[in-house]
Amino acid sequence: MDLDVSLHIAGRWRPGGGGETLAVLNPATGEAIGRVAVATRADLDEALEAVERGFAAWRRVSAFDRSKVLRRAAALMRERVEDIARTMTVEQGKPLAESRVETGVAADIIEWFAEEGRRAYGRVIPARAEGVLQIVTREPVGPVAAFTPWNFPINQAVRKLSAALCTGCPVILKGPEDTPASCAELVRAFLDAGVPGDALALVYGDPAEISGYLIPHPVIRKITFTGSTAVGKQLAALAGQHMKRATMELGGHAPAIVFDDADIDTAVRVLSANKYRNAGQVCVAPTRFLVQEGVYDRFIDGFVAASKALKVGDGLDPETQMGPLVHGRRVEAMEAFVADAEAKGARLLTGGSRIGNRGHFFEPTVFADVPLEARIMNEEPFGPIAAIRRFSDDAEALTEANRLPYGLAAYAYTRSGTRANRFGAGIEAGMISINHHGIALPETPFGGVKDSGYGSEGGSEAIEAYLTTKFVTQANA
Ligand code: NAD
Repeated sequence: MDLDVSLHIAGRWRPGGGGETLAVLNPATGEAIGRVAVATRADLDEALEAVERGFAAWRRVSAFDRSKVLRRAAALMRERVEDIARTMTVEQGKPLAESRVETGVAADIIEWFAEEGRRAYGRVIPARAEGVLQIVTREPVGPVAAFTPWNFPINQAVRKLSAALCTGCPVILKGPEDTPASCAELVRAFLDAGVPGDALALVYGDPAEISGYLIPHPVIRKITFTGSTAVGKQLAALAGQHMKRATMELGGHAPAIVFDDADIDTAVRVLSANKYRNAGQVCVAPTRFLVQEGVYDRFIDGFVAASKALKVGDGLDPETQMGPLVHGRRVEAMEAFVADAEAKGARLLTGGSRIGNRGHFFEPTVFADVPLEARIMNEEPFGPIAAIRRFSDDAEALTEANRLPYGLAAYAYTRSGTRANRFGAGIEAGMISINHHGIALPETPFGGVKDSGYGSEGGSEAIEAYLTTKFVTQANA
């Protein structure tokens, strides 16, 4: 495969002005599969001029017509699903079936925003005096700088692009250098569908250099970032310094509480599937498994069996259920988590090592009796390691669930309505899913609290982030 990925600036797909490129590697083999262009400062300037022009033009297109363009983009994603999914698997590693789902879900997301963008209603407020008209309108905030990571090369970007474009905002997207080609196919679908070339730029390069230049730039009015909490805090500080609106979708460390009245088979099946999806490189993955003592051994037996049964391999193999990690740094991170957990006295039940010496494969790994001091109980694992701990009463589980500064997703399994209500109300997280895995739909809010960030990337809340409010009052002359 030869994935040569260009920049898209001012309506043209082209190399970076300096001619520099970065290698793109297949994480299943370690082999180079293509190159991605690197943007220079002059390229960014050209992209900024383009989106400034693009804003003037795209905001004037009616919401009705923007909606039609977005619907065409969704249809193109569906038509191209096989090619795009293959590209994603080869550069990111996830099984082909997951890549197909991600591409199809992207089409669903675009369609939902295409509809919802037509509902950016204003209102008329009754005036205090006769002859006065008080109108509230919603306007697009302006050009957006979006930064997206490699774990979902399309889905992290499509939420941002759809919400921005449906409201009339142009975007400069800094895509993921590790997985640039499938993200570029998303941009291509929007452009082929009729989004003006000036309204959507795609750049790659040095992430810190690009964000450091775009965020303070006066043309950019809104920042949206998905990635680690550490980087998010830096970008949010920069955005604050320059009075830019920001949405931050950052790391998580989701507690999964299994009470002794739960349907244990369902809990094991759903939680293990979501632990290992995308090799655990998911911000909402369940990571801290808190299991009540009455069902502790049964849950562990089931979870370990599910972990051992997983077929790990190249995502292109239709039998594969879990692919490699995206790059070597994630394998090293897993090895460090394992060494630390063992040193702190956690019980390793299965896995714990990298697989082979080709590609970045790591075994599905389960630890039980993990002490709170272990790094894995405190830092986001972002990989295929499950840390299980025992609890005795509800208060203990809730205290542990809320102990960390993260607050993205949380899960609970119980047949008790009272417990479900108490947990739903008491947990400090942006998304809580009880007795099933039901988050990340286009129409439902998606975002965190505390160190997991702010703002939403789903539901009508996602659109609010791209709109400003204008109040106009006029009296008869
Ligand atoms: P990293 O922190 O180097 O990069 C994470 C992402 O942020 C990448 O896409 C990168 O391009 C981008 N980035 C980094 N510095 C940036 C900057 N100054 N300006 C703009 N973008 C910047 O880490 P990594 O090794 O690639 O991934 C490891 C960690 O990243 C994980 O442990 C996880 O916490 C986090 N991560 C989170 C998500 C998510 O969905 N929230 C996705 C990917 C990675």
